[in-house]
Parts: sequence; C-alpha cells; structure tokens
Amino acid sequence: MARKLAAGNWKMNGLKASLSEAKVLAEMFPAPRVDILLCPPATLVAAMAEVLSGTKVDVGGQDCHMKTSGAHTGDISAEMLADAGADYVILGHSERRADHGETDSIVCEKTMAATMAGLIPVVCVGETLDQREAGDTLDVIRKQLSGSLPDAVDLSKLVIAYEPVWAIGTGKIPTLDQIAEVHDDMRATLTARYGAGASDIPLLYGGSVKPSNAAEIFATSNVDGALVGGASLKAADFSGIVTAL
Ligand code: PGA
Repeated sequence: MARKLAAGNWKMNGLKASLSEAKVLAEMFPAPRVDILLCPPATLVAAMAEVLSGTKVDVGGQDCHMKTSGAHTGDISAEMLADAGADYVILGHSERRADHGETDSIVCEKTMAATMAGLIPVVCVGETLDQREAGDTLDVIRKQLSGSLPDAVDLSKLVIAYEPVWAIGTGKIPTLDQIAEVHDDMRATLTARYGAGASDIPLLYGGSVKPSNAAEIFATSNVDGALVGGASLKAADFSGIVTAL
C-alpha cells in the first residue's frame, strides 16, 4: 500500500509573509495521519524549511536542473534544493513542459538528478483536452511515464502525479471513473515495468482539487493523495484537503 500524501504546489505565488500560512498549517497538524508537503517558489524554500523545522510538514522545490552545478544562469540544482532544506521536488509539471519546452527525456534526467541529491521526485504527467477528446489519454500517460522515469528508481522514493492539463486551475475535473481509469492504468503500467514494489508509489491526482471535492477523489481507485495548486495557498483551504485524505 502506498503512503498517503497531500502536496501543495504554490507555483509562482508567495512572498515572505506567506510563510505564516505554512506555519498555521503545521500547527493544525502536529501529528497528521498522512504526509503533508508544501512546494513554495525557490526563493522561499530555505525560509520555509526553517519555519517548518521540527513540524510534520515537508518542503519541496518546483523544478531542478539536470546537472549538479555549472554555467546555467538562473537554474537551481537538486543538490541546492536539498541544501536549502527541501525533501521533494516537483518535476515535469505541465506548466514547465509548456513554458520551458521540457520533454520526457529532460524530465527523466531531472528525476535522476533529484534522486542522486536525495530528493523525492514528484513526476507529473497528464493529457491535454485535445488528447482526451481524441481518445488518446491512456496512450499519452503511458508514454509520459515511460519516458520521464529512469529504469533504475528507488520505488520508496518516488511519487507520480496525474494532472490533466485541462483540469489545472480551471475548476473542471474529470469524472471519478475517468480518474480511476487513468490511476488503475498507471499502477498497472508501473507494476509491469518495476514489479510488485510499484504498489508503494503514491499516485496523486492534481487539477482543481478543493476541500469540497477532495473526499470523493480520494475514495477513487488507486488515488493516494493530491497535488494541489490554488487551494494550497491558504492553510484554511489546504487543511480541508489534508483532513479529507
Ligand atoms: P490547481 O493546480 O489545483 O490550481 O488546479 C494543480 C497543479 O497544477 O498542481
């Protein structure tokens, strides 16, 4: 059985004052039943790690470079994130794939770099609306999983997030049957590749998760948690999702 994880992705939101939300969240869950993660923008990773030290809420980055160091202006290595206090890093989010041309093979290199640095990668996959309407969803997800993950992975240190691109920030979510179809297929695909240990990989759903829809999503087959954007910015909202898990 995979562990349960409620992960927040602050994206390009949050200034120093926002750290109070992280503190409030941690105080609400001194002994949570599930794992809790917040991924602030890179500028806040170190400060958030400090605010959350000694609490049960982990910190993650939203991207890292595939190389450990060197002439890559503006980039951040996995080792730097770990050094700043991060435990996780989101990789291959559809906004990175769209805004920065990240391909599956780039995401795969980053996944290896994150693992080398001791971070837990949260590897994101998801179809566009056109791909769903063309009936290609499962093929797209299988291809992304195949290309974005290395052959050698520590299955206990890997998280996958299924985020339909058309459900991100739109208020639309797939039907529960559609979520179950993708999550069951991801579990089968990962088991075929990595063996029975793939049952330990938390499979998160992401895209317009809110306190009001979280419980039914979490009750869906092979959904082990959520990757939450907008509703992770305020402790009052995110706590409702954590409680539903
Ligand atoms: P959303 O974003 O919850 O705001 O839809 C999810 C994500 O992109 O991780």
